[in-house]
Amino acid sequence: LDAALDAGHAVLAGGGSALDAVEAAARALEDSPRFNAGHGAVFDAEGRHELDASVMEGHTRRAGAVAGLTTIRNPVSLARAVMEHSPHVMLIGAGAEAFADTRDDIERVPNAYFDTDHRRRELEQAQARERADADGAGDLKGKYFGTIGAVALDAEGRIATATSTGGMTNKRWGRVGDTPLVGAGTWADERCGISGTGWGEFFIRCAVAHDIAARVEYRGDTLQAAADEVILRTVPELGGDGGAIALDREGNVVMSFNTSGMYRGWIRPDGTRGTAIFRE
Ligand code: ASP
Repeated sequence: LDAALDAGHAVLAGGGSALDAVEAAARALEDSPRFNAGHGAVFDAEGRHELDASVMEGHTRRAGAVAGLTTIRNPVSLARAVMEHSPHVMLIGAGAEAFADTRDDIERVPNAYFDTDHRRRELEQAQARERADADGAGDLKGKYFGTIGAVALDAEGRIATATSTGGMTNKRWGRVGDTPLVGAGTWADERCGISGTGWGEFFIRCAVAHDIAARVEYRGDTLQAAADEVILRTVPELGGDGGAIALDREGNVVMSFNTSGMYRGWIRPDGTRGTAIFRE
């Protein structure tokens, strides 16, 4: 978390944009084996990895997203390339990989680059639970979510958000969660930015990121009240769980979660920072 804070802060301290900062922070987290994004992404049911990511820039409402990637070392950077160098917002699977072929700034890796032993054990445990489960429906619910996200506010008052994930352990059939869906796992506008982590099916059904932003815009809610309403009431009422990080243009940092913990960190212009896991 500190490495990601440093990466983002270095960009902002150098006068860089919020978009550059969230990309830098997200890449640091994708490169870490500890999070469910990039190296360290969860395994799908076939024992492979399919990665999803998105970015959004608040003041322009530009967005880029990718899903079902198999060879892209830093999905967040391909999401940004979709936003900046294609006429589209979202590219998936083989098409997204073909778009990456046209760019020499996108690093490729074999799918096994994303492997980690602890994620393989999680897959084995999930599949053992599935076999034990009489109706065979499979239990995607996780105790801890490791999707990564970053939100930044730059010196010009611009907000950007990035989110990246391997999805949910044991997912199948080309499953895509909330992370690459603008309005579900990611949002940024001129007032605030939001990045979610959690049980993606519920985050999609609750349009979590946009619902938080809409409460700020339409109702004049504080970002904290808006995030708490959606994360602590709307999502769990449907049976989902997870959390979100959010930041508004006044620099208010909000981190709301209904799980036992959420790995999170924040850093201010003067370099004062914090990291936390549980509710302390
Ligand atoms: N939200 C992600 C997904 O459903 C999972 C996570 O947050 O770890 O794909």
